[in-house]
Amino acid sequence: MAMNEKACNHCGKLVREDQASCPWCGSPSPFPQSQKMTAAQKKFILFFVATIVLCIILILWFPR
Ligand SMILES: [Zn+2]
Repeated sequence: MAMNEKACNHCGKLVREDQASCPWCGSPSPFPQSQKMTAAQKKFILFFVATIVLCIILILWFPR
């Protein structure tokens, strides 16, 4: 109940989100896109934070 579950694309049985592949038939998890999204989001967040930090440094460096 606590863990997110999705039906396997191959056999239709429930696969938990933390499982890399279906425990019933071994086909890839129906959650393959979440990992790619997470990696892309991490890069985006890193870039975003770096931009904000740069802005803060520039604001402190050039006071009005
Ligand atoms: Zn399966």
